[in-house]
Amino acid sequence: MARPRNCRRVGCLPESQYFKPRGIPLSVLEEINLTVDEFEAIRLADLEGLYQEQAAERMNVSRQTFGRIIESGHKKVAEALVKGKALKIEGGDFDMASMRNFRCSDCQHSWEHPYGTGRPKNCPSCKSGNIFRTDKDRGFGKEQGRCCRGTQQNNN
Ligand SMILES: [Zn+2]
Repeated sequence: MARPRNCRRVGCLPESQYFKPRGIPLSVLEEINLTVDEFEAIRLADLEGLYQEQAAERMNVSRQTFGRIIESGHKKVAEALVKGKALKIEGGDFDMASMRNFRCSDCQHSWEHPYGTGRPKNCPSCKSGNIFRTDKDRGFGKEQGRCCRGTQQNNN
């Protein structure tokens, strides 16, 4: 199966996109930009405890690429902590793997399926083909499932 290269799939966006040390005025504060793919790599490997191989798969990149992403991410976080710099999480080369919700009309089983992996053909529970989408967020962002948009919605 041919996969588009360089498309780093990201499962969720950071809840807070800016961390700063307390008591340092913004005017003298140095800022480090952690990209969203680096953030995601840290989340998968360090928080969820995935092996690099699994985490790489989740992000749709090779293990070597994952290794580079997380190394760079670790370095930035460490620098922010050690040197008291602010951490801004944005940008990077990634694609949102938003979840689509499906439901089976035969057994009423409902489940989530990530974007970018093709539409499921059958209900995972009863194997019925009578499935439909039940997204709450349908119509939110027309290009949501697209690959490699480059940056997240930077409209703030
Ligand atoms: Zn079913």
